Amino acid sequence: MSEERFECIVVGGGLAGLTAAYVLANAGKEVMLVERGNYCGAKNVTGGRIYGHSMEKVIPGFARKAPVERTVVKEKLSSVSDGIFSTKEFESCDPRIPGGKSYTVLRSKFDRWFAEQAEQAGVMLITDILVEDLLVQDGRVCGIIASGEIMEADIVILAEGVNGLLAQKIGLKSPVEPDHVSVGVKEVIGFNKNLIQERFGLKDGEGLAWMINGFDGICDAFLYTNNESVSAGISMHVSRVDQTEKSMPEMLEDFLEHPEIAPLLEGGTLLEYSAHLFPEGGAKTIGPFYGDGVLIAGDAAGLCVNFGDTLRGMDLAVESGRLAAETAIAALEQGEFSREILAGYQKALEASSVFAILTSREGE
Ligand SMILES: Cc1cc2nc3c(=O)[nH]c(=O)nc-3n(C[C@H](O)[C@H](O)[C@H](O)COP(=O)(O)OP(=O)(O)OC[C@H]3O[C@@H](n4cnc5c(N)ncnc54)[C@H](O)[C@@H]3O)c2cc1C
Repeated sequence: MSEERFECIVVGGGLAGLTAAYVLANAGKEVMLVERGNYCGAKNVTGGRIYGHSMEKVIPGFARKAPVERTVVKEKLSSVSDGIFSTKEFESCDPRIPGGKSYTVLRSKFDRWFAEQAEQAGVMLITDILVEDLLVQDGRVCGIIASGEIMEADIVILAEGVNGLLAQKIGLKSPVEPDHVSVGVKEVIGFNKNLIQERFGLKDGEGLAWMINGFDGICDAFLYTNNESVSAGISMHVSRVDQTEKSMPEMLEDFLEHPEIAPLLEGGTLLEYSAHLFPEGGAKTIGPFYGDGVLIAGDAAGLCVNFGDTLRGMDLAVESGRLAAETAIAALEQGEFSREILAGYQKALEASSVFAILTSREGE
């Protein structure tokens, strides 16, 4: 049996898992975070603009300390018909969207920084290890199995991202269906900082978020300015992939070479190429969020939305990670880990900005 025992084990070192582990450690709990990438941020893909409200609750003033790229001050929203862009430009941010200030981020930097904060708070961070299975006894999750070793915990938080393979194994998640997820392909293109500011009409520290709907008739596209790079990509519902003869990389090339986009990116250097799924099934496809001894946060629980003018899952990952940790802390203090006790997490989510955002466009 195991030699190691923790009050909580968190699976997945993306924003949901890092937040959960950080909050637990700050409350003095013994917490281990297991990430399969060789560092936090290595496997994580985003557009990426993070709305700051949820991070602000976890690390007040985070934007002054964390490696955020730029503060989004300018938004563009385009719709494309027969290759012609129709674009409106406005100041950030849309009052219908809860969240306030937003920032562009590169996950390889941001998550790495957050992991350092978590370790300083007392989290035992293990990277480069895949959690293969969950330890379940008498119907209750009570640990993990990784590299053939059992590690026990009073509570396990699953923050393993969109596929949710461990949550599937214990029947808390259905296999991912093509109409519940989208796939995104993205390039990060490096530039001199002054050139970015000149081309996009920005000052030092200011950023642009640009969403483009209906590109190539079938996908959405996005472009975000970072400090010394631009993140540009496309996304499409997986159920639509066979409605086009073009591959995703070909559609990304079309986007990057479009006359509206190409002049803005001319002379840049490709720094990163990535592809990833994200949940896009809407409020009806999310959850369940808990079971006996287990809580699920972030993309693993389906918490991500794409409204066309905004694509957001990072703030929902942070908020759900925090609420999962708070539920776990209360359960640890009572010494009770049944699903009835952990049901408080669902109530907290329903009362939080997570559900406010998920349901904010219902009926539109
Ligand atoms: C192309 C694209 C564009 C996007 N744009 C935006 C945007 O602009 N703004 C926004 O807010 N959101 C955006 N999103 C969504 C956002 O990136 C996600 O909602 C967010 O990253 C979810 O965080 P998470 O911590 O739940 O999951 P993830 O960041 O996916 O983290 C899960 C972690 O778990 C690890 N893991 C998985 N299985 C195991 C295992 N068995 N053992 C150990 N570790 C494991 C993974 O390696 C990973 O690090 C975008 C997503 C994509 C794909």
